Amino acid sequence: MIIVMKKFAENTQIERVLETVNKLDLKPVPLYGTERTVIAVIGDERPVDQHHISSLPGVDKVMSILDPFKLASRDTKHEDTIVDLGDGVTVGGKKIAMMAGPCAVESETQMESIASEMKKAGVQIMRGGAYKPRTSPYSFEGLGSDGLELLSSVAKRHGLKTITEIVDIRDIDIVGKHTDIFQIGTRNMQNFNLLKEVGKTQKPVLLKRGMSATIKEFLLAAEHIMMNGNSKVMLCERGIRTFETETRNTLALATVPLIKELSHLPIIVDPSHSTGKPTLVSPMTKAAIAAGADGILVDVHPNPQEALCDGDQAIKPETFHKLMEELKPLTEAVGRLL
Ligand code: PEP
Ligand code: MN
Repeated sequence: MIIVMKKFAENTQIERVLETVNKLDLKPVPLYGTERTVIAVIGDERPVDQHHISSLPGVDKVMSILDPFKLASRDTKHEDTIVDLGDGVTVGGKKIAMMAGPCAVESETQMESIASEMKKAGVQIMRGGAYKPRTSPYSFEGLGSDGLELLSSVAKRHGLKTITEIVDIRDIDIVGKHTDIFQIGTRNMQNFNLLKEVGKTQKPVLLKRGMSATIKEFLLAAEHIMMNGNSKVMLCERGIRTFETETRNTLALATVPLIKELSHLPIIVDPSHSTGKPTLVSPMTKAAIAAGADGILVDVHPNPQEALCDGDQAIKPETFHKLMEELKPLTEAVGRLL
């Protein structure tokens, strides 16, 4: 059951609903929005008299949501969620959020070079992994806390927001201290303890689709985060495993309009990990924006041949600049801003 409060309902009214639900031996999970608060009710609600709750002051309506995911469902919240990163940077509104940078933070020189190029290109959010979950244990696993320090100090100097991956619940504090967005990678989409811990914070989370996850599983993973009180969730399609081996993964672009139908959360596309090929990054970025994506997460490296991680899929800053130019008329045509 979902209790939708009226726009700008008073805190005392919200508190009264929470108390009432608690007294019924059910657990209320409030999601405080900018205009409206929505309260999910967890537990066996069958004996509950819905009219009793809907008649409380400040309550707009009480709904039974049939989707298995409730807080992420478009039925619960009709308007698109806009995630606010502060300083006027948002994800999910009219503006396309470009998140660009190297797969992994490697050195100060590399990060400085990328930060100044990305700033010039109009990017507001820089990516860079410090903890890299690698398929092979012999691959570069990132610079850890030193990488986080580098990412945040360089980003601050250039006035950029940051996104970086978190792989372990023990790193919540340190990663949280250095980044504006927690990235949950494809390999951890169903790491439920990790989802729960980031859900207990109020830091925005970008949740990548598991490489073999269905859309329902993807949305239920988002639900795990939201259920713990954090509604600042962004979804990211990064390609799925299919029989095709010419591309690293198969970019499932229909995910974008489908997520828009099913959920109010922003949807981002990663054209780098989904294709694994630099030549496919620009065309797939354009296709993603045309399909309605709210943002792009892309690997850009000053010198891809020397990258310590995923250099074979990164594009160079020159290519990125050209892409940004080409995106201008396209974003305008689909009613978005770049
Ligand atoms: C990444 O974006 O750095 C990454 C590891 O991606 P994924 O989890 O999609 O493989
Ligand atoms: Mn990578």
